[in-house]
Amino acid sequence: MTFSSVATRISGNGNQLGPRGRSVDHFVVHHAADSSLANVLAMMSSGSREVSANYVVKDGQIVGVVPEEHRGWSLSSPEWDGRSITVETCNSATGDASGWPISEQSYESLAKLIADCATRYGFPINRDRVLGHREVFSRHGASYATACPGGIDLDRLVRMAKEAQSGARPAPATPEPTVEESMYVVFVAETKSNWLITPTFVRKIVDLPDASAKDTIAGIEKLSKPKIVLPFGEFYGIWSNINAGTKDDSATGREIRALAEQIAASR
Ligand SMILES: [Zn+2]
Repeated sequence: MTFSSVATRISGNGNQLGPRGRSVDHFVVHHAADSSLANVLAMMSSGSREVSANYVVKDGQIVGVVPEEHRGWSLSSPEWDGRSITVETCNSATGDASGWPISEQSYESLAKLIADCATRYGFPINRDRVLGHREVFSRHGASYATACPGGIDLDRLVRMAKEAQSGARPAPATPEPTVEESMYVVFVAETKSNWLITPTFVRKIVDLPDASAKDTIAGIEKLSKPKIVLPFGEFYGIWSNINAGTKDDSATGREIRALAEQIAASR
């Protein structure tokens, strides 16, 4: 599951995506017509709207949503979603009177992301390859007529992305962050149950409280195939490390502790 190393976090979505069917050679910018990052991410995971993108940007935050191996549902065109890295950008003000601007920090985040994608996929940073949504229609007759991406100055964005690319330091030796590294679903053989493990917590999947969390899990389960299967002992070790120095008194913690005692007693 590939996401840019400039992503500040991953909010995987395994539902609203499809096979690319071709290689990436464009970058397409949308504006979200919404200033709330939470709203835009919720829209992409709720299933109520069939819309997604590879990334969502707001100010300094670059959130990975649809892994780059897949196309998002962003342009109503499998061909153009397939050949493009797509990004939704939260506006800094909304309403037609505002001109639908984005913040200076969002310009910087977009420029960084464009520079990184162009370097990795080997396409040039210019106004033919970095397009606003409306230009996919006006130049290529694909997608649909739209005002998107609002007031984003694409010429300026391309200049900034070129600067970011030329000033970029060599890629660090550390691997790019992936969904599997930040969170994964583990099937524990002895308990025959699925658990979500992130760097900071472990939860039994059936205990997740709300529908949007379940959507997210369904996405991660799809993305982290083949599912990781661990014997309880190893799973217990991971849980203990995460909770080192703390006493996890949640229902999950109590259940894991009880299972450990049960298994130890039966040996
Ligand atoms: Zn758009």
